[in-house]
Amino acid sequence: MSDFIHRLPKAELHLHLEGSVEPATLAELSRRHTTPLPFSGNKYEQASEGLPVLSEDEVRALYQYKDFLGFLMAFKAVTERLRTADDYELITYRMMERLRAQNVLHAEVYVSVGVVHWRGQEFSEVFRGIEAGRGHGEKDFGVSLLWIFDAVRHFGPDAAQRVVEEAVRCREQSASVIGFGIGGDDERRGPPELFREVYRSGRERGLRLTAHAGEAAGPESVWGAINLGAERIGHGLNAWQDRELMAALVERQIPVEICLSSNLRTGCCAAANKHPLKTYFDVGVMVTLNTDDPAMFETSLEQEYGLAQKEFGFSDEQLREIARNSFEASFLPAEKKLQFLDMVDAFS
Ligand SMILES: [Zn+2]
Repeated sequence: MSDFIHRLPKAELHLHLEGSVEPATLAELSRRHTTPLPFSGNKYEQASEGLPVLSEDEVRALYQYKDFLGFLMAFKAVTERLRTADDYELITYRMMERLRAQNVLHAEVYVSVGVVHWRGQEFSEVFRGIEAGRGHGEKDFGVSLLWIFDAVRHFGPDAAQRVVEEAVRCREQSASVIGFGIGGDDERRGPPELFREVYRSGRERGLRLTAHAGEAAGPESVWGAINLGAERIGHGLNAWQDRELMAALVERQIPVEICLSSNLRTGCCAAANKHPLKTYFDVGVMVTLNTDDPAMFETSLEQEYGLAQKEFGFSDEQLREIARNSFEASFLPAEKKLQFLDMVDAFS
C-alpha cells in the first residue's frame, strides 16, 4: 500500500453499514443471536430452525462467493443477526474505527432501512444504536458521518415511501440523516420509473437523493435515476454504452460512485481491464472510488485507490483529484466541503 494513498484525506460516499461487518464482528453477533426472528411476513424465516453460531473462519468462507446470489446470502447472514440497538452501535463504531485507520475523514453511509422494515423490526431501536455508534465514533476517531436511508427496489414503491417517512422522522431528531436512495439486486424488477412519486416526496421534504443504477442493468436505468432527480449515481457501470448519457454525466457533472472490487466480485464486471473507470475519468465524468461492502468484498477504501493505480495507471495527482471529487460530491454543507478540500490540496 502506497504511503501517499494511505495518508491522502479521503471521503467515502458509497458504503453500506451492513456490508462493513468484519468476520470477527459477525462471529461475535452470531453468539449473541441464535433464535430465528419472529414471523415477519417471510415464510423462510418462519420455517427456519435457529441460527448457527459462526466461527470467524466460517464467516470468511461465507464471504467467499463468486456471484450476486452468494453475495445476497452473505448479506442475509449479517442482517438476520442485527437485532438490538447494541448490535448496531457496535458495527457503526467499528466501521468508523476502520475509516479513521485509512484517513477516510468523511463517509455517507447507507442503512438498509427497507430490510429492517421487511424483517418487522422496530427502526427506532436501530436508529438509537447507529446514532450512539456515530456519536462515539466521531468523538474517538474524528470521522464525520452522514446517513442515507436505503430502500430495496424490488419491495416496490410503497415500501420505499415508508423509508422516506422514516428518514424524515429521524431527520427531525438528528441532522446526520441526509438522504434517501434505492438499491437492491434487481434493477429490472424495480425500475426507476416506479419510484417517481417517492423521489418527489423525498426531495420536497428536504432529503438528498441517490440511486443505485447501471450496476446490473443497462444505461436506461441510469437515465431513469437521473430523471428521478438522483444527485449521485451508485455504480453507473454500464453508462459507457450510451454516448448521450456519457455526455450528460460530463456536462452536468453528476457524480458516479465507482465500486471496483464490488463489480468484480459480484460478476457485474467480468475483469478489471474491462471496467470503464479510466474512460470515465479521462472524458471528465466526476468519478469517486468506494468500497460498497468492504468486509464482504474483502477490501478497504485505500485498497480501492491502490487497485485503481495498479490496474489503470492513475498517477498520485490523479488520485488526489478523485479524492477531491469525493468531498466535492458529498452532501456536506459548503463550508465543511471547503475545509476538507483545503486539506486535500494542502496534502503532500
Ligand atoms: Zn451499494
